[in-house]
Amino acid sequence: MIENDEIRRVRAQVARLHAELVRYGLVVWTAGNVSGRVPGSDLFVIKPSGLDYDDIRPANMVLCDLDGTVVAGSEGSGLAPSSDTAAHAYVYRAMPEVGGVVHTHSTYATAWAARGEPVPCVITGMADEFGGEIPVGPFAIIGDDTIGRGIVATLSGHRSRAVLMRNHGLFAIGKDARDAVKAAVMAEDAARTVHIARQGGELVPLDPADVDALFDRYQNVYGQPAKGAPR
Ligand SMILES: [Zn+2]
Repeated sequence: MIENDEIRRVRAQVARLHAELVRYGLVVWTAGNVSGRVPGSDLFVIKPSGLDYDDIRPANMVLCDLDGTVVAGSEGSGLAPSSDTAAHAYVYRAMPEVGGVVHTHSTYATAWAARGEPVPCVITGMADEFGGEIPVGPFAIIGDDTIGRGIVATLSGHRSRAVLMRNHGLFAIGKDARDAVKAAVMAEDAARTVHIARQGGELVPLDPADVDALFDRYQNVYGQPAKGAPR
């Protein structure tokens, strides 16, 4: 199979983003994975199973169709894709707006998942990023699309782009792979801060109207104006 520029671009992006999981301390050993949808196609790129983070290259990322089947003859097709590929594929099939999926067992997020407890929205940074709590999804065994169904059922219609899968870890989605990695980084940061806050005493809730206002401002106004957008 001849790979086009768009596939090569997503391969490079997904390979590079795995270094961000290491940089922010979200993964140990070979755990965790990032995938990215190839825009305008029914394909996505994902980390192979069990590959050392130091060995990740664009050429050994695995190209899959939306059923999670490796595209025969593509670069990296000799490697088995991540054991979470079925979950990623399910999300891409069910949520066409999603362009990237990330999975980690990052410590603080997974600690909340181990308790089956959502991270309550008690800091403005969480209101900005997630528009409320980070919810908990159902317990699911790895391998088939049970995890994917749990992610989609929990995040559909929810502002949060991150979900704590019970007794397991974090899944995050985004408009592309970078956006999903950002959600995973921010979710771990929020889980850590709120955990530490609770060690020191009772959490002070945020007014839901303030959460709405913060979320709206951050999603629509914050940052640099898009090129060509009215100021
Ligand atoms: Zn996992």
